[in-house]
Amino acid sequence: LSHGLEKLRAEPCITLDGHRVPLWVNTGLFADIARSLDRGAEGVGLYRTEVPFMIQDRFPSEKEQQATYREQLQAFHPLPVTMRTLDVGGDKALSYFPIKEDNPFLGWRGIRVTLDHPEIFLVQIRAMLKASEGLDNLRIMLPMISSVYEVEDALHLIHRAYSEVLDEGVKVPMPPVGVMIEVPAAVYQARELVQLVDFLSVGTNDLTQYLLAVDRNNPRVADLYHSLHPAVLQALQIVSRACREAGKPMSVCGEMAGDPAAAVLLLAMGCDMLSMNATNLPRVKWLLRQISLSDAQALLEVALQQDNAYLVQSILHLALRNMG
Ligand code: PEP
Ligand code: MG
Repeated sequence: LSHGLEKLRAEPCITLDGHRVPLWVNTGLFADIARSLDRGAEGVGLYRTEVPFMIQDRFPSEKEQQATYREQLQAFHPLPVTMRTLDVGGDKALSYFPIKEDNPFLGWRGIRVTLDHPEIFLVQIRAMLKASEGLDNLRIMLPMISSVYEVEDALHLIHRAYSEVLDEGVKVPMPPVGVMIEVPAAVYQARELVQLVDFLSVGTNDLTQYLLAVDRNNPRVADLYHSLHPAVLQALQIVSRACREAGKPMSVCGEMAGDPAAAVLLLAMGCDMLSMNATNLPRVKWLLRQISLSDAQALLEVALQQDNAYLVQSILHLALRNMG
């Protein structure tokens, strides 16, 4: 990390014309905590709770989960920490909970697993709520939502877990709950989904994979996997409009948010916060501090007229290079 970027740590992420865009981080491993704080993260936009599950050889108990979550919430306190409920299946396997399928990315993953196993979900939510007692910086986020009823069912379970911990004498407020938009169906349901929750967060890694029908981990089709594809940009526009109309915040927590050039477009779309790998945070902050919101909006307008991702990318890079 160069000295210039190091100095940026304590500076806010603010555009030349005074528009604030909080930069949050994605975490999972214990080591992510120090790296994130070191780079001036303003919150956690995605804590991947499956990570502590993956390094065990059995399901962690409610007490064990509570301790792990407490560590995370305490380390960032008073900054908000967005805990995503267990997102296994697809590319994320638990040795003690094997899932064998021909099409794992189209199969039993994310919220589908935990709604079929409410006992896993309830234990996790109770652990999160108990861990947040006295800190009150917890947010909860639901992965792989493709239908409104899944959110309704999950909210029902969250409220049940909440009243259970209150009965046990735990004093916590009801945390904000959000939905990840990472399945194309959820993009077209964004208006309905946002009514049910406090925020939406776009998972561009899976959304790109599903919109373009390109496996995010297959090197043979890696050239086809591009988050600047016009279809992805249009999808983001739909979500952003739904959030704006509902007066609720929209964030992006896929890798796209950590790409400085893409972050300029996300800023222009009206994203309320960007959540990324801590490594990318200083670069994104540096660039967003060099640009005005109106310049970003002009770039977005040009980008939306392109019909392929590589054109969008080269236009962005040229324009940003010209700006210095
Ligand atoms: C995403 O899909 O963009 C995302 C942030 O979740 P994950 O990478 O954990 O699937
Ligand atoms: Mg995902």
